Amino acid sequence: MYDKDKLKEELTLDEIKTLLVELGVQHIETHESKGHIITNTICHNVSDGKMKLYYYIDEQIFHCYTSCNENFDIFDLVIKNHMLKGKKLGFPEAIHWVLTTLGRPSYMVKPKGFGHSHIGRREELDWLDSLKVKKSVILDMKVHSEKTLELFSDKPHPLFLEDNITEDTMRKFEVMYYEKTNRIVIPHRHYQTGKLIGVKSRSLDFQDIDNGYKYIPLRVQDVTYSYPTFQNLYGLYQNKDIIKRLKRVVIFESEKSVMQFESYFPNYNFSVALCGSNVSKQQVQMLVELGVQEVVLALDKEFTILNTPEANLYREKLERLCSMFSSYCKVSMIWDRFKLLELKDSPSDKGKEVFVELFKNRRTIHTKE
Ligand SMILES: [Zn+2]
Repeated sequence: MYDKDKLKEELTLDEIKTLLVELGVQHIETHESKGHIITNTICHNVSDGKMKLYYYIDEQIFHCYTSCNENFDIFDLVIKNHMLKGKKLGFPEAIHWVLTTLGRPSYMVKPKGFGHSHIGRREELDWLDSLKVKKSVILDMKVHSEKTLELFSDKPHPLFLEDNITEDTMRKFEVMYYEKTNRIVIPHRHYQTGKLIGVKSRSLDFQDIDNGYKYIPLRVQDVTYSYPTFQNLYGLYQNKDIIKRLKRVVIFESEKSVMQFESYFPNYNFSVALCGSNVSKQQVQMLVELGVQEVVLALDKEFTILNTPEANLYREKLERLCSMFSSYCKVSMIWDRFKLLELKDSPSDKGKEVFVELFKNRRTIHTKE
């Protein structure tokens, strides 16, 4: 038995959010005054679920308001979510996953009844030490062999061509096709080293898509090509030089948008993707260190009608993300005032002209200081 309750009590709300992002939630709404946060469901589907997974901050309990209708804690959620991705975790492994994902040493979890019944002085010191580990610690990311890419065919897939992504772009971003599982594959490279750290795949089977498996990490035999996406920015490796030169960056949610940008402005691509809809402290740091002086947040549209509670909530969320950059540089956000996009569209989805229009009309966020 492990002391999961103690660990659970130690987890801050920020850490819960980090874990959720790492499990693959695409959206988080914070309603701290109401004592909960809401995310898209990742308990019974892997992605693109509805905003029906609630986390009650004081109770440290999740509830899924769908037919799933279950209560569970963070460890149960880690187990459920891994199960959906085809990975069976036991309880100790779930705890280990939580600790390593947060950059905390895993040894802090001691089996109950280890040695004396009370915590010894040395152990107590270890425990205190372990809490000092900085949250922003960069985890070692597993590097995959380049040989992995030989499994795929580089014939450009018509689905991406139809989605405003050119063949040249697909070549630049190494988008390929994996026949064995009928998926388009998108290699992810480390923003600094360029090493292969993950492979995202897009399913082409309707059944998978219906079940929320549209974009998931690729699995080949026993290897899942996933990594902590909050410690990287997709496209930064490829677009670093231009971003550095222009001192400007556009931040999208998904890989596809970075590729659309490339297709609209070949070799003039100053965009990156979060691979989610949350910005981590590490991601802010990556861009600040490059000398970026203007950040344009270009996340997917999450409202239908302006000035509704839905739109206002979304605006608050974007403003919160903008504020993460505002002490370092100028920040603006794409805000679709003129109904150029539909719900869930990325600002790059409707072609070059619409994107340029949205970009020109972006809203500058003024810092409070
Ligand atoms: Zn559920």
